[in-house]
Amino acid sequence: MAVRVVIAGCGFGGLEAAHNLKRMLKDRVEITAIDRDERFEYVPGLPGLASGRKGERDVTIPYVGLFNRIRSRFVNSEIKSIDRKGRTVITAKGEIPYDYLIVSLGSDPAYYGIKGAKENSLGFRSVADANALRDHIVEAFGSQRGVPPDSIDRAALRIVVVGGGLSGVELITELKTLADDTCKREGLPRNRCDLVLIDHGPILHPSFDQEVGEFVEQYFSKCGIRLQHGHAVTEVRKGEVLLDDGTAIRAETVVWCAGIMPSGVVCGMGGGCVNPKYGLMLNSYLQVVDDPNVFSIGDCSYSKIFEAAPILTALRATEQAEYVSANLFYEVTGRRDKMVVYEPRRFPTLISLCRGMGILEFGGFWSKGRVQWWMKRATQSIYMARFRHNLGFLEYVDELFIDLIESWYSMRMRRR
Ligand SMILES: Cc1cc2nc3c(=O)[nH]c(=O)nc-3n(C[C@H](O)[C@H](O)[C@H](O)COP(=O)(O)OP(=O)(O)OC[C@H]3O[C@@H](n4cnc5c(N)ncnc54)[C@H](O)[C@@H]3O)c2cc1C
Repeated sequence: MAVRVVIAGCGFGGLEAAHNLKRMLKDRVEITAIDRDERFEYVPGLPGLASGRKGERDVTIPYVGLFNRIRSRFVNSEIKSIDRKGRTVITAKGEIPYDYLIVSLGSDPAYYGIKGAKENSLGFRSVADANALRDHIVEAFGSQRGVPPDSIDRAALRIVVVGGGLSGVELITELKTLADDTCKREGLPRNRCDLVLIDHGPILHPSFDQEVGEFVEQYFSKCGIRLQHGHAVTEVRKGEVLLDDGTAIRAETVVWCAGIMPSGVVCGMGGGCVNPKYGLMLNSYLQVVDDPNVFSIGDCSYSKIFEAAPILTALRATEQAEYVSANLFYEVTGRRDKMVVYEPRRFPTLISLCRGMGILEFGGFWSKGRVQWWMKRATQSIYMARFRHNLGFLEYVDELFIDLIESWYSMRMRRR
């Protein structure tokens, strides 16, 4: 009888694991994948969707087709909880039993208990959020159509992004383009709109080299994006953000990109395997510490070994999915002694900024320019083409791409 593997959450980690497992175990595995969305969402492409540069089709792929192609079942439902004793996933559409479970539920936004942050800011985690944000900005700017320049309400044309990490930086970059285009269309003076990025520490810190953050700061000031860093947000009111030095910034649009926490379902799993800050605690085979039948991938889990490459990225979730599928393969085929210890690899990180500027950071070295900006776009196209058209070989193109970057950087390191 085929072994029943349930995949809870089909983002980067879950999708990769499903494809790998099916390829390795073929008919020996019966995969049931569960996700609350009907389509896979390419999250790094959301800033482009918010600005209107990309359409929904560019950043989504319907799950039904993806799972039909690998002859697996897809259940479109909200997961309510996981019963590890009964080996069942409880969804809004019923209970789904498993022999092995892969938890890849990603993360939720973290508001750190800041008053009004959740209620009075817009989230930015999904296609629905990106569409709502674009509509909100277009409406706010549209409300000033025909108003004489001196009487324009500056708050209507002010966009505040809280959180100067990778997602906040890329989002404000795209919103700058949207703001400029909307001003042009509505006949509003561009110098009346104001984009502000707030962070309590330096931009892109601590995940990136300090120099990268400094370059982004200088570049933003050239592009007309204001940085407000060194002060923490203490409260978000409707149309107003308060900082710890008493400054109040009036803004019709406030977007929250200030951090993440493990998915609520994971935090509710209880027992000794959950750390409320980091999620499911894993051993070096990426199994949950007290349950070898449950594996986990991506933003919802943690192990001490992750500290070698601490940034939570789509690439890391994809890499972990490869280890989880291999270890599950050995587990199912009774070859536990072959299971592989997870060794996180440091991946290059690409950041795209406004006006065609991109940054590539890897192992303490970084470079900037149009080629890097283009590379960021190319990675999205390669990833989407691989799954949309089932072009397995593109996985190797991706790997080749990463290997080339690694070799180039090690050459530079040696020269220094
Ligand atoms: C705006 C933004 C930009 C980013 N840019 C980059 C980037 O440029 N490069 C990069 O490498 N990383 C980037 N990241 C980070 C990257 O998206 C994550 O690290 C990655 O998605 C994690 O993969 P995952 O499989 O752990 O979770 P996800 O990809 O988040 O997948 C989780 C899945 O679980 C589903 N789910 C969650 N809860 C439930 C539930 N209760 N019931 C049913 N289904 C559920 C979700 O619908 C989702 O499909 C960005 C993140 C954001 C928010």
